[in-house]
Amino acid sequence: MEQSGIETSTASVVHWKVGGLVITSLSDGYFQMPMERFVAGISPAEIETAQRASLREGNQRININAYLIRGKDHRPILVDAGLGKGMIPTAGKLLEALQSIGVFADEIKTVLLTHLHADHCRGLIDANGQAVYPNAEVVISRAEFAYWFEEQGADKDAASLAHAALKPYEGRIRFIEPGEVLPGVLAVALPGHTPGHTGYQFDDGGDSILIWGDVVNVPDVQSMFPRAGAVTDVNNLQTIKTRSEIFEKAARERLLIAGMHTEFPGIAQLVRDDDRFRFVPASWIDRQ
Ligand SMILES: [Zn+2]
Repeated sequence: MEQSGIETSTASVVHWKVGGLVITSLSDGYFQMPMERFVAGISPAEIETAQRASLREGNQRININAYLIRGKDHRPILVDAGLGKGMIPTAGKLLEALQSIGVFADEIKTVLLTHLHADHCRGLIDANGQAVYPNAEVVISRAEFAYWFEEQGADKDAASLAHAALKPYEGRIRFIEPGEVLPGVLAVALPGHTPGHTGYQFDDGGDSILIWGDVVNVPDVQSMFPRAGAVTDVNNLQTIKTRSEIFEKAARERLLIAGMHTEFPGIAQLVRDDDRFRFVPASWIDRQ
């Protein structure tokens, strides 16, 4: 970018309306990696086909998104917290995105976590391991917590990042089962990517949105090949089953979905083309 004289891109905040709620897409940044090392379950030729079709060849950028929900009956809710600072230079920008719209960390009352991979929960803590959201209750599926905290088979590195992220929140973590977790907010079990992977559906005034976490990690590849996994999937078969079911439902019901790795600003509907799917970006609003 330097030679063209363009300063760093800071377009990291986009608003949407769902009933009386304002949903804000927040970019934590992105990571980038060769897809043949990240995508599992399909052939290198299929990966290449999908990448070529979406004009995303080579090292593909994977967005890290989080969402802020505000409404007259809601105190500010954050869904996921991004990767946080100190891991990679292209991520950890969520707090700046929040501050750019005048929302400060101490105003966040609830953080709903989709799962405990670092790119979703490590942003709960700062470089010193202290809580970034001093007044927030952290909400997580009981099954997800149990896996990362009690299961011997869980990936050790990922587990230790999750432990560090939750440590300063001890005593204000709420464990949930699928169902209503706050008024108008439904936790939806979407297991596979991780055992307690959870989406959150917000319903207001007849409209709704499903914030579905990591149903897709690489949207272009997995919409074309829904059976494509990611190396970070804990259970590949269950991930594919969950994805197929929610893809079908989203396409049939024209659900508005928001993903943590869908192309920023991340909110779209899904259309079925034979055995493939296509993301259609939704329209954002220019002010609240
Ligand atoms: Zn993720």
